[in-house]
Amino acid sequence: MQHAFHGPIRRTKIVATLGPATDREGVLDAIIEAGVDVVRLNFSHGNPEDHRRRLKAVREAADRHGRAVAALGDLQGPKIRIARFAAEGGVKLEKGQSFILDVSLDRDAGDSERVGCDYEELADDVEAGDKLLLDDGRLVLEVDRIDGPRIHTKVVVGGKLTNNKGINKQGGGLSAAALTDKDKEDLKTAIDIGVDYLAVSFPRSGADMQYARELLGEAGQEIGLVAKIERAEAVADPETLDDIIRASEAVMVARGDLGVEIGDAQLIGVQKRIIARARTLNKVVITATQMMESMIESPLPTRAEVFDVANAVLDGTDAVMLSAETAAGDYPVETIRAMNRLCLGAERERAAQQSQHRIHEGFTRIDETLALSAMYAANHLSGVVAIACLTASGYTPLIASRIRSGLPIVALAETPMVQRRMALYRGVVSLVFDSSRFPLTEINAGAIKELVSRGLADKGDHVILTRGDHMNAHGGTNTMKIIQVEE
Ligand code: PGA
Ligand code: MN
Repeated sequence: MQHAFHGPIRRTKIVATLGPATDREGVLDAIIEAGVDVVRLNFSHGNPEDHRRRLKAVREAADRHGRAVAALGDLQGPKIRIARFAAEGGVKLEKGQSFILDVSLDRDAGDSERVGCDYEELADDVEAGDKLLLDDGRLVLEVDRIDGPRIHTKVVVGGKLTNNKGINKQGGGLSAAALTDKDKEDLKTAIDIGVDYLAVSFPRSGADMQYARELLGEAGQEIGLVAKIERAEAVADPETLDDIIRASEAVMVARGDLGVEIGDAQLIGVQKRIIARARTLNKVVITATQMMESMIESPLPTRAEVFDVANAVLDGTDAVMLSAETAAGDYPVETIRAMNRLCLGAERERAAQQSQHRIHEGFTRIDETLALSAMYAANHLSGVVAIACLTASGYTPLIASRIRSGLPIVALAETPMVQRRMALYRGVVSLVFDSSRFPLTEINAGAIKELVSRGLADKGDHVILTRGDHMNAHGGTNTMKIIQVEE
């Protein structure tokens, strides 16, 4: 089926995590129809067969709806967790009481005085005075002293603590390597089932991303790497952040863990900086976690959530992400519909459409110069309805989409793989267009016809088209043409 476009085209992309809620009859089709651009397969939950089955169902549903939907595999990473309690799945900790994290304790033997932990090195990574945040910061323990494998703490903020809850150290500094043995296995599964993007959790540096790239091997040609920015170290200085961004195709503002480590007040500016740096460095950025948290149990977002989504759009994020809202919530379809509506609403603001991006900078690459020139021409010439980019690798649409605009960038990709990759790029409508079907002199007309048939351009409209003289040459874009649609 060929998808035709009606009404305003949403620029900000929607990433939806799959889970039991999207396994329910009809839900996957409904969320794809409602606008999901990327699905997230969360390797922290489920087994390889769940992910394989879900991705197969996504590919089939996307085909039915004529939509490009990319798949993002998300590795669990070295998330440090407490073990389990002997009774009732948890205990209540009172403010002021002592509590021991004991890495030598049996994994199922926790009680109101102590609990085990899966991360053997925890006792080496903390010292007296450190604050440990449990369950996304809901409980806080302050370290008194270390006694071999036992960390003696005092409860600063109490509450109910249940099995397998996460532990973060305030300020960061837990030394676990970014890729665990489980991650390395899951990475192979991700390659095997055919994801388009792979997210690495808790990278400390660009080197962690390079290591993941080495593990991908040849599959790295087809899979883009996403660095989840969720450790305090990753944002401690601008060099480290840039280093991680440069080593990745995309980054995620992973506000859940990052907010716990650096504190919620710091998170505000850090989100804006990560988004701005990613775009400046020609990379893609996803804003994630608790965007529509109340919609896990409610069919409507709160006003605070409305503005959180809108502010991320105005910050310039490429995509907004949903976690439990779609994976395990009661209203996955309503959540996507609300996200779609709110992104469109925010994008109507002038600030979302105007750009100073690299306006005072020199360029070094010809394809980059073309991409940026096309965007400025499109933004400044009246009557232009779209920028159409014939692309082999997706590079020209990526560069073009770093500039804010109100006009769609229609990327005409040679392969479905490149088409799906671009599903994450803000403002890019990605289609497959096989230019080899046309003689060289008729490619432009064929491309314009494609736009018209999809409802993206009409008679009399202007379209700005970019392409290379030699089709199929990567990085070959060197031509820009302003075309008036004739028929
Ligand atoms: P997670 O990552 O959902 O895998 O924890 C996102 C975050 O920490 O915000
Ligand atoms: Mn996380």
